[in-house]
Amino acid sequence: MEDMRAKLFYEQKNGYDLISPQEHGQVEEYAADYMRFLDTSRTEREAVANAIDEAEECGFVPYEPGMELHSGMKIYCSNRGKALMLAVIGRESLANGAVIAGAHVDCPRLDLKQNPLYESDELAFFKTHYYGGIKKYQWVAIPLELHGVVALKSGETVEVTVGRRAGEPRFVITDLLPHLAADQMKKTMAEGITGEGLNIIIGSVPYADEEKDRVKLAVLSILNDCYGITEEDFLSAELCAVPAFDVSEIGFDRSLIGGYGHDDRSCAYAELKAIFSVENPRRTCVCILADKEEIGSEGVTGMQSAAFDTFMEDLCASQGVDLRRCYEKSFCLSADVCNAFDPNFPDVSEKRNDSKINYGMGICKFTGARGKYDTSDASAEVVGYIRKLFAENGVIWQMAELGKVDQGGGGTIAKFMANRNIDTIDAGVPVLSMHAPFEVVAKFDCYMTFKGVLAAYND
Ligand code: MN
Ligand code: MN
Repeated sequence: MEDMRAKLFYEQKNGYDLISPQEHGQVEEYAADYMRFLDTSRTEREAVANAIDEAEECGFVPYEPGMELHSGMKIYCSNRGKALMLAVIGRESLANGAVIAGAHVDCPRLDLKQNPLYESDELAFFKTHYYGGIKKYQWVAIPLELHGVVALKSGETVEVTVGRRAGEPRFVITDLLPHLAADQMKKTMAEGITGEGLNIIIGSVPYADEEKDRVKLAVLSILNDCYGITEEDFLSAELCAVPAFDVSEIGFDRSLIGGYGHDDRSCAYAELKAIFSVENPRRTCVCILADKEEIGSEGVTGMQSAAFDTFMEDLCASQGVDLRRCYEKSFCLSADVCNAFDPNFPDVSEKRNDSKINYGMGICKFTGARGKYDTSDASAEVVGYIRKLFAENGVIWQMAELGKVDQGGGGTIAKFMANRNIDTIDAGVPVLSMHAPFEVVAKFDCYMTFKGVLAAYND
């Protein structure tokens, strides 16, 4: 009977029961690199800039249209500094398809409005419009830092970063003291803090004159000194407030990583590390860091943009290959995080199918909601391919599903890749507290996601 069980049952094991001490060492090494990347990549622009720096160190060169491409060549193409595509040209023709891994580097945050600055009761504030799916109550009474760019009328773009480096000031949205919160506490969690209530406090000392808005004027004079900007320049600014928490190890055993932006920079980094490790692959390997996933993959830098098709069409044209023929033979890992089962909230999960911390890379056949609506739903054959690939390459992985049926749902870039006629499946790191200002992942799962992407690239 024991043999029957071993032969017929599918049983998963904790990843730490499956790896050698040597591989445990590699997990730690990888996690340390990832934590450094995450700490300095607080916006999509910063993630792209950091990725380009590392890519150039690894021999990647900027792609120019018409450039002669040969196998083994490493190129990258920045899309407006907010999204990035990298490729290592394969030995085989693109007529045999490419191996694509796509993650996103935008994360939920608080964008400043275009007229953000005002004074109320001798305090200065920025008004915000939140970006992506957030629980608003999580964003008050935590330290915030400010990142972004201001495009001036002169054509010059000024970069702004305040609060990341030690010694710099930070910002905060105030919350109501419990003593006076009797009415607030009766509201639902969705209503207790409103979108228009997410106003960031930025100053309190008045300018030395007799007119009104003296604190606002004093803040503007500081901004003018530091960045040469005036109030009108906010109109053409992209500034956002993000949590000012340092990335840190979590737990006595240091096995987890807490930080802002694991969704989806943990997968973006896995892809980067993987494509940096690829040498002279059989098929052309492509790594995408996309923008705008959190708001539907729209726009010029989102995954629905023609920028990706233009890049791929250029690569295909250099080999005389039709783009559509390349796509139909290609394979894409939509590298995005999944929700990890949380013992604090078991009711929303279906334990047999939710991914678990330390059980490896999470493979999500489908996302969507209300009867798989809005998902590309990978085919059985694609999942079969993944099983074989990961078994052959020692990738520890698990199936993932976004909670109980009809509990909620979500989406990724997968459907936009699949709509291009590319076989696509979601795969990534299980996350606790997804979309919170401080998310948690396991080092082990981050490393296995890197290993999974690398296995696909090297197949
Ligand atoms: Mn995501
Ligand atoms: Mn997300």
